[in-house]
This record gives sequence, structure tokens and C-alpha cells, in this order.
Amino acid sequence: AKAQGRNSMRMFDESMTRDSAERLRMENDLHEALERNEMRVFYQPQFEVATGRLVGAEALLRWCRPVQGMVSPADFIPLAEDTGLIVAIGAWVLREACEQASEWETRTGVPLRVAVNLSPRQLEAGHLVDHISHALQASGLAPSRLELEITESAIVRDTLSTAEVLSRLRALGISIAIDDFGVGYSSMSYLRELPVDKFKIDRVFLSAVPSSASDARLAAALIAMAHTLQVGLVAEGVETSEQLDFLRAHGCHEAQGYYLGRPMTAQDFEALIHAQVPG
Ligand code: C2E
Ligand code: CA
Ligand code: CA
Ligand code: CA
Repeated sequence: AKAQGRNSMRMFDESMTRDSAERLRMENDLHEALERNEMRVFYQPQFEVATGRLVGAEALLRWCRPVQGMVSPADFIPLAEDTGLIVAIGAWVLREACEQASEWETRTGVPLRVAVNLSPRQLEAGHLVDHISHALQASGLAPSRLELEITESAIVRDTLSTAEVLSRLRALGISIAIDDFGVGYSSMSYLRELPVDKFKIDRVFLSAVPSSASDARLAAALIAMAHTLQVGLVAEGVETSEQLDFLRAHGCHEAQGYYLGRPMTAQDFEALIHAQVPG
């Protein structure tokens, strides 16, 4: 038993070394990823529930590593946040998404909104408002066409200065959405005071709808809460027609999910816009 114990200890050490070596390699690669042109932005469509009209897209980052292939943001964003690289990468995503949305509007004549995820590190880094106004000016995108998604945890981290930054962004005409709404720290008191335009209900609340009555009640309560607070509402992770019916029945404004459209390249998204409008 003793020998086995030592053996499993060594295996543990080796796998730890392998993991940290891989992490180090990933970190080094991540430093160069932007310069090497390995980052891409995919776009997932968002629709108005009542009419089925395409209203916008969420910009989702993709990293195409030469050997490993496409890496999910879930696998490298935590590292990018730890190292602070997310500030440069996030700024790039913002510029890219604004340029893309402006280009679509020029080419299709359809004004759509683009939603960009903001890391708490970007909120803390300073000059965020300047960077964003610059991205808007350089791209020619109207501020009302840009939405920023911020998680609840980012907002509660530093409520006072975050609220100030959010207010300044809203003064420019940009809208603010609370991402992953419902899973974090929401309390009525801070939600009432925060300068936000929209809640984005996390997909965990929809995943068991309509099969689980208690989950359905919870999702309905979140929708009702948005109505009460008079903020916009988008449901993410819609995977079935039943879920969409549920959202329609409860008056959820907008929806996004695999059932409606997967994240896709900018080119595919432009084809989707053309397919929506006659002519
Ligand atoms: P998120 O902001 O909650 O984004 C939604 C995630 O759910 C996306 O995963 C999307 O592809 C996925 N999704 C969409 N519809 C469905 C569905 O019907 N079913 C299921 N099961 N999943 C669905 P993705 O693209 O892998 O992004 C993961 C997370 O990475 C995002 O979660 C966001 O927190 C982060 N992220 C992505 N892009 C950026 C970025 O540019 N900046 C920052 N800071 N974070 C980003
Ligand atoms: Ca998001
Ligand atoms: Ca989300
Ligand atoms: Ca989520």
C-alpha cells in the first residue's frame, strides 16, 4: 500500500507538471495570438421573441491555435484574465465587433445591435470609456447599436466606480446588459440602483424548462422581475421550440440559442441578415 501511495503521488506530480507546462505554453501562445492573427470573433444571432425578427448578435471570441485547433473561450479567458491579457484582447474584440456591425449596416441597410462581453479587468483597467468611444468613432457605428454584457459578479466587485463607468457609457447611448443574470449576487436593492438596460437570463434557468415545474416557475419569476424593474430581457441558451414557446407566453423580449442560431462567422451572419430581409 505504501509503494502504491508513493507511486500515485509521483503520478500526481507528473500530471501537475504537465498541466503547468501546458498552461505556460498556452500563456506564451496567448501573448502572440493577436499578432499572429489567430483570434476570431463569431456572432450568435439574437431575435425578438414576439415577431421572430433578427435584432442583433452577440460577439463571441474564438482562438484558432495552429496545432491544437479551435479553443473555447471557456478554456482561455480565465488565463487571459489572470495574466491581464484580456484587456488587450477585449479591446481588440470591441474594435472588431464595432467595425463588423458598421460594415453589415453599410452593406445590408439593416441596422442591428452588437453585444460585446466585457471582462471585469477591462472595467478596472481605466480609460474604458475613451477606448469605447474611439472604437465607435473609428468604425462609424452609432452608440445605440452597441451593447456591453457584464456579469453580475463584475458589477458587485466594485459597485461604486463600476456604476460610474456604466453611467458614463450609457450617457454615450450604449446599452448595458447584465450577463448570466440570476446565477450571481442579484439582490433587488442593487439591481434597482444599477444603471443597466437589460438582463440576460442565464441558460441554466431554461435548461429544464418546461419539464421541471420548479425551474419553469423560477424562469417566469426572473422574467416578471425584469418587467417590474422595466428593463429589457434576453434569454440565452434556447435549445428547443418548447423553450421558445415558454418565453413567448411569459413575455420575454428577446432570445438567443442553438435552436435559433449557433455562433457563426461574420460572413455567415451577413448571409443571415440578407435572408431576413426581402429583396
Ligand atoms: P457567455 O457570455 O454566457 O456566452 C454564452 C455561451 O453559451 C457561448 O459560449 C455560446 O456559444 C453558448 N451558447 C449559446 N447558445 C447556446 C445554447 O443554446 N446551448 C448551449 N449549451 N450553449 C449555448 P462560448 O462562445 O464558448 O463562450 C463562453 C464564455 O466565454 C462566454 O459566456 C463569455 O463569458 C466568455 N467570452 C466569450 N467571448 C468573450 C469576449 O470577447 N470577452 C470576454 N471577456 N469574455 C468572452
Ligand atoms: Ca455573454
Ligand atoms: Ca451569458
Ligand atoms: Ca453563461
